[in-house]
Amino acid sequence: MEFSLTTLGTASAVPSNNRFSSAHVMNVRGRLFLIDCAEGSQILLARHGISHAKIENILISHLHGDHVFGIMPLLSTMALKGRTAPLYIYAPEAFCHTLKFFKNYFADGVKFDINFVPLKATAPEEIIATRNCKVFAFPLNHKVETYGFLFREEEPALNVRKEFIEQDALTLQEIGSLKAGNDVVREDGNVLEAAKYAYKPYVPRSAAYCSDTAPFPELEGWVRGVDVLYHEATFGNDMRDLSSEYFHSTAEDAARVAAAAGAGKLVIGHFSSRYPDVNVLLDEARQVFPETYMAEEGMIFDVPVKKLF
Ligand SMILES: [Zn+2]
Ligand SMILES: [Zn+2]
Repeated sequence: MEFSLTTLGTASAVPSNNRFSSAHVMNVRGRLFLIDCAEGSQILLARHGISHAKIENILISHLHGDHVFGIMPLLSTMALKGRTAPLYIYAPEAFCHTLKFFKNYFADGVKFDINFVPLKATAPEEIIATRNCKVFAFPLNHKVETYGFLFREEEPALNVRKEFIEQDALTLQEIGSLKAGNDVVREDGNVLEAAKYAYKPYVPRSAAYCSDTAPFPELEGWVRGVDVLYHEATFGNDMRDLSSEYFHSTAEDAARVAAAAGAGKLVIGHFSSRYPDVNVLLDEARQVFPETYMAEEGMIFDVPVKKLF
């Protein structure tokens, strides 16, 4: 029942000694989504014990090098390791040229299907549906076409409270009806109300990824109430002008989105290499949104199951 975001690459365009550019893994109950794939992503996956073989979907936010330069080496390694399972890549449409280049020159040993799905959305739009979750893409406000991603766990099926099963000697048929949310009328006229007998076992969890982006008004509504909000915080208040010029966010901007959206936790990353110590960014964000955490390589932000009974 894991629902977690692992931050791997946490630098912006220029990596440093201890920070690689963007790469993240979202784990929804064992299904892995790689979000952005900068240079060195496959090394980071290996270093933090995440098997690339388990990645079914790669989501690319936009076509800046610090989000995509790692994809060809990763595809190549997948092929060398004998992958046969299909892979899905979601990215802005122009990515098809990169993929074509790879297929033309480097895909000799590739024995798996690489399915490309172009992103296009003006508001949150469902792009993936698995048994346990839905993934939505939504536009961000950056210099080039850019998308954020929202992961929402599906509503769980209803369960019937154990104490009633014995107490009222519920039949399998009655349990089935109650689980479907229907009241049961017995032959003696007794009514077993689904609202009393059945319950939702847990609250569905959610997480959003927003990088790269300058602030814009719709965003807080699109990520309303998420348990974990990953939001870029490239700059601090001292470089606010530069942040606007490059269509990025400051740590304070990220914190304002988290606060307005009512997020459970804010994770900031995509730090500019101009900051030798990014704690200054963390401090600025925490003044607005105390539940802010700084992304580090290999850090896991887990959302535990919120059981209702
Ligand atoms: Zn970037
Ligand atoms: Zn960018």
